[in-house]
Amino acid sequence: MSDPQFDLIVIGEGIAGLTAARVAARQGLSVATFEANIFGGLVLNVNELDPVPPGAGASGTDYASTLMSECSEAGVVSHSEAVEALAGANGAVTLTTAGGTYSARAVIVASGAKLKRLGVPGEEEYAYKGVSQCADCDGPLFQGAEVAVVGGGDSALQEALVLAHYADRVHVLMRSAAPRANAGWLARAKAEPKIVFHPQTSVYRIEGGPMVERIVVRGADGVEQTLACAGLFAYIGLEPNTAFLPTDIKRDGSGRVVTDDKMGTAVANVLAAGAVRSGDDGTLAGAARDAEIAAASAFASLRG
Ligand code: NDP
Repeated sequence: MSDPQFDLIVIGEGIAGLTAARVAARQGLSVATFEANIFGGLVLNVNELDPVPPGAGASGTDYASTLMSECSEAGVVSHSEAVEALAGANGAVTLTTAGGTYSARAVIVASGAKLKRLGVPGEEEYAYKGVSQCADCDGPLFQGAEVAVVGGGDSALQEALVLAHYADRVHVLMRSAAPRANAGWLARAKAEPKIVFHPQTSVYRIEGGPMVERIVVRGADGVEQTLACAGLFAYIGLEPNTAFLPTDIKRDGSGRVVTDDKMGTAVANVLAAGAVRSGDDGTLAGAARDAEIAAASAFASLRG
């Protein structure tokens, strides 16, 4: 087999992937990144980072753009291609894309995660017609309106607070009796008079005309109720982007890649970092920390 083309390939140009690529390239490794969509990942949906990571601008776009420029200056080669398959053998890892095959001595999987969808009637039909998963992008469309946020985690409350800048009322619909968000987000959401909590409430249908007009829910008593809302934003957790990974890379019950404390996976020379990884804490700081560990591990195994 011919020599691998790169020391390291990083799959994903979100915060974890760009951080890992930057660290590894600055250490002198030859590094390529692969990204199926626009660089930046989920952080692009955040206008005001909270907390703002060290060295980052105030918005998610600023943060991702800074990292992308730093990668480029460090010599990272960026490929706008989706990775379709990955296989490790004989000390190298080979990636397959629609455009060809690429090889590296090590790979960091930082393919991130996407927001889960509710899977209820009306959700697909009203996508971009009131159903959204980007409060920062679409919030201004709901000036003076009533909207609903589904979920009771940190994301739901953070985004409910964004929507409260614009909407008259934000209904937070939680299937559990209590939110699971941390105390900080909970205190801020409870202090916002426009936010109304609906515990033990599940969405059944989204209805309207050309645009969303109402949401049919059921509370703890099982009685159907209609909320007049022009928008619905589901923040019910993340699902990892792992479809291209072989089954010998172990996953946990939620489909995330299982790693050791050096970010190594069950396959030699394949590491993982960020939201795709089991144990990720969902924060930007956590993604960057994972990425630094993964890059250091790759460097140690290639040059150590
Ligand atoms: P979480 O998994 O933490 O919360 C998901 C929420 O959605 C829960 O309230 C859950 O309810 C609910 N839910 C799940 N499935 C459904 C469903 N089918 N129907 C209705 N409700 C559902 O996800 P988040 O996206 O909020 O957070 C992901 C990670 O990102 C976390 O680690 C979080 O801490 C982190 N995060 C950090 C931020 C920060 O530090 N700035 C900001 C945002 C997120 P139930 O409780 O009943 O399961």
